[in-house]
Amino acid sequence: MQTHLNIKGLVIRETAFQDADKIIELFTEDGIRTVRVRSARKPGSKYAAVTQLFSYGEFCLRCSGDRLFLDSAVSLNLFFGIRNDLDALALASYFAELIRRTVTNQPQPQLLRLYLLALHHLSEHSRPVPLVKAIFELRLMTEIGMMPNLVCCQECMTYLPKHPILRIRFADFVCRECRAMPDSKDRDVPQAVLLAARHVVFSEFDRLFQFRLKGRSADAFGEYTEQYLLHQLGMHFPTLDFYHEQCDPQPEF
Ligand SMILES: [Zn+2]
Repeated sequence: MQTHLNIKGLVIRETAFQDADKIIELFTEDGIRTVRVRSARKPGSKYAAVTQLFSYGEFCLRCSGDRLFLDSAVSLNLFFGIRNDLDALALASYFAELIRRTVTNQPQPQLLRLYLLALHHLSEHSRPVPLVKAIFELRLMTEIGMMPNLVCCQECMTYLPKHPILRIRFADFVCRECRAMPDSKDRDVPQAVLLAARHVVFSEFDRLFQFRLKGRSADAFGEYTEQYLLHQLGMHFPTLDFYHEQCDPQPEF
């Protein structure tokens, strides 16, 4: 029987437990592992940093029955740049909830890679926060088998129509001229949004975040990915509400 386990993982939840311990959830290539960390909340604990939320590290775990305990850990990336950025923290928390509620314990190395890439861009401030959110949402849906069909218009097979309409309910798109029945969830978008969505669905990971969108296209892309995800998953995410409270411009009085 295996008594030790060495895994790389990202801390996506930490909860105080008893006097000085904590329970962490590690997102790994093989799903989520729940681990008890003894004395992690004592002053001077050497594992305090590596077991904090959104820390990525290499963890040596001891198995006892069906429970896991931390033996030792080495930090690989603490993503310092998000720790004093409330917008980035709110978004990273929404990603954590998305992961917790959609992943299975099947091997899904691409999802961990997606999360780490998103945290890297948030930490380095190398992409706008709303763009990181949109890319994560749409690629997550793709990786869990719920990608929209964005190859061509579903009616006339046109690859890049002048006026594409992204259909959230049908998970596809049509040209404005081809649409027979308008739907309240349809998104009438600039061509750039279709191209961006196609890129996110089909791109290799090393190029996934390498594009820019501005102005109305950026807004329309973000609205599409969020509405697509919410409709297709049929879930409500409190962390998404918090993200909008935190990040959306407040009306002036
Ligand atoms: Zn068409």
